[in-house]
Amino acid sequence: MFDKWLATLPNWKILNDLRFEWNNISYQIDSLSIFSNTIHHFEVKNYEGDYYIEKDTWYLLSGTEISNPLIQLERTESLLRRFIKNLGFNYSIESYLIFINPEFHLYHAPRNPKIIFPNQLPRFMKNLRKKTSKIAYNHTKIIDQLISYHVPDSPYMRIPKYTFDELKKGIICPSCHTFYTAFNKKYLVCDHCGNKEYVTSAVLRCIEEFTLLFPERKLTVKEIQEWSKIIPHQTVRRIIANNYKIIRQGKTSYYIHPDK
Ligand SMILES: [Zn+2]
Repeated sequence: MFDKWLATLPNWKILNDLRFEWNNISYQIDSLSIFSNTIHHFEVKNYEGDYYIEKDTWYLLSGTEISNPLIQLERTESLLRRFIKNLGFNYSIESYLIFINPEFHLYHAPRNPKIIFPNQLPRFMKNLRKKTSKIAYNHTKIIDQLISYHVPDSPYMRIPKYTFDELKKGIICPSCHTFYTAFNKKYLVCDHCGNKEYVTSAVLRCIEEFTLLFPERKLTVKEIQEWSKIIPHQTVRRIIANNYKIIRQGKTSYYIHPDK
């Protein structure tokens, strides 16, 4: 029903049920719309009944744990951003988790603007409609590319799979979404748009992305050094040590989020 409604927006390009496999990474996208220079990415859930959240974990009222749809959303967004970047496009991405079933209720719902509950949906749709512009941008290139990478669903490959080794490493500039190419002591300066960012904020974002994409891997200086690609070992060590809690395990050590 949501995708049918999206289709009524003039000048919006809508793609539904996309499935990408790229560098052995496989993931699905419910709805994606391109408007102006922004890609809106919608994860649509038809949950029914009562749910609750406790310490970032989602449960059915019966106490059965379900996989956190917000983390799924962020993971997909992160993969999509890298994918689009890799194709050579500069679009920003806005992601939304849409609950369409009016019989859905979530106790302890977080105040997160990315989550749209059934009673917010009419207002959300109204605001999207307001964004509609008179100018028809040409998105043919990116749409052709996205469709060419779409792989029809196969029952054997439902689980998103990608590995650390396969993903392109580097820190992405938050303002134009290209990879930073160089580091000079305190700052990262983007070659492409000139954006200047403190190395600390860039490395912290890089760590967050790493823990989101690879929850099964231990957070270590070596891993982040490799994932960031351009930040020296010493700098990574200082930033992790100042912001994360160290866990010593024999001769090796790793870090965890201070709240955990
Ligand atoms: Zn930039």
